[in-house]
Amino acid sequence: MRINVVVDMVPNLHVRTPALAFYLYTVQQLPSRLIEAAVDQISTLPGIGRRTALRLALSLLSRDNERVRSLADAIVAMSEGVKPCDVCYNLTEQVTCSICAAPTRNKDLICVVEDIRDLLAIENVGTFRGVYHVLGGIISPMDGVGPSDLNIEPLIRRLAEKNTVAGVDISEGPIPESATEIIFALPATMEGDTTSFYLYKKMVSFELKITTLARGVAVGEALQHADEATLARSMDNRTLYEC
Ligand SMILES: [Zn+2]
Repeated sequence: MRINVVVDMVPNLHVRTPALAFYLYTVQQLPSRLIEAAVDQISTLPGIGRRTALRLALSLLSRDNERVRSLADAIVAMSEGVKPCDVCYNLTEQVTCSICAAPTRNKDLICVVEDIRDLLAIENVGTFRGVYHVLGGIISPMDGVGPSDLNIEPLIRRLAEKNTVAGVDISEGPIPESATEIIFALPATMEGDTTSFYLYKKMVSFELKITTLARGVAVGEALQHADEATLARSMDNRTLYEC
């Protein structure tokens, strides 16, 4: 069944029948419990309020059943078929992700990122040839996120060369790798710095080069527009001029 409802994006919901639009906006009592249920579910997505959820629900109603089913099938298939990589917590349909499985990637170099989007951003640049470790967040006491909520212990396991290092039992889990350098590619925020410091304390006893992303004036940014902390950091981290 296809329902002829036209939905506009901004600033409000517009339907072809003004009376229906008025009804939906003022009464907020939806004409069907099925629509209500769909709106309830859609509004659980991040950044989607009930008004946007209603717009999306009505948009779906204007589609053919087959297209709606394709959308639902794709979401279910993704939810059931995609899982974290056993080694680095990147997303994959296999046991290990394509990056960990690639023989061309340098396993000596592990880049630690907050989440998958950061991994994708670095991959899009196309110059990093090492592997990753996705923490799944950063330490944030204000949000109730502690080290045990993140994939930190698996990272320590990856870095350990023997079965017991720093009191961590690694008798189970993936085979340890022999990384020689770890890069902290975490946000330049207090939480990001806290997480980097925690990781540093955890792995400082390992024979490992620990590095962090350079911070400073952004490419294309005028000095006068940089904030004081960024400018100071840029001065501290100045590099030899090469051409
Ligand atoms: Zn992986």
